[in-house]
Amino acid sequence: MRKAFVAGNWKMHGSKASILTLVSGLNAKVGEVGDVDIAVCPPAIYIDFVNRSLSTGKIAVGAQNMAEEPVQGAYTGEHSVAMLKDFDCQYVILGHSERRAIYGETDAQIARKVKVALENGVTPILCVGETLEERESGVMETVIATQLDAVIAEVGIVAFEKIVIAYEPVWAIGTGKTATPAQAQEVHAFIRSKLAQLSADIAQKVIIQYGGSVKPDNAAELFSQPDIDGGLIGGASLNADDFIAICKAAG
Ligand code: PEP
Repeated sequence: MRKAFVAGNWKMHGSKASILTLVSGLNAKVGEVGDVDIAVCPPAIYIDFVNRSLSTGKIAVGAQNMAEEPVQGAYTGEHSVAMLKDFDCQYVILGHSERRAIYGETDAQIARKVKVALENGVTPILCVGETLEERESGVMETVIATQLDAVIAEVGIVAFEKIVIAYEPVWAIGTGKTATPAQAQEVHAFIRSKLAQLSADIAQKVIIQYGGSVKPDNAAELFSQPDIDGGLIGGASLNADDFIAICKAAG
């Protein structure tokens, strides 16, 4: 039985004041959520502030990216996995479509980052997903398989026991267009069956989140699908009431 996991990707949003309001709301209401793993991923500069503002052990903190180099060095503007651990980060989002599209991150780079995260005890939330053009031209499964294969080649299938996968159709991120529960389930089942070709056991255990315009009013139906184990939430994670409602839907 997989435990649902909901994570908030705050992207490059927030200020000390707005984050304090958001975290206060989460502190006040997280007790209403059932048996669900929860994490929030603030901009890196606010990670320590969020950790110190959270008054509940029920919400873990994660980062949105990290360097391929594990410890320290002359890499201006980067932060390492060792630094994330120093500030009690349990998760790191890797391969988000915005990192792939805007910053040109490749499958190979993402795979190496996954390896570095795992070697240092930080759980990667590995994002995969197709663009609208790729979906419409019939190469959706090939695109997702290629994204997964790069990571499988780097860390092996057994490592997926410690990796969270987030299926995020690029066309549904921040657009208000959600994949229908059936569309999302189809891809989640494809991902699980692909992993099952290498290990049925790992495939059954791996958490696969859905991400892309999840809101309180569509979360329950998405999360009720058999292969959807929670969500990676962008816009709606910036509002405590909405994020808590989504977490409740996952329970
Ligand atoms: C995301 O960026 O990971 C995401 C899912 O965003 P949104 O929920 O805003 O579509």
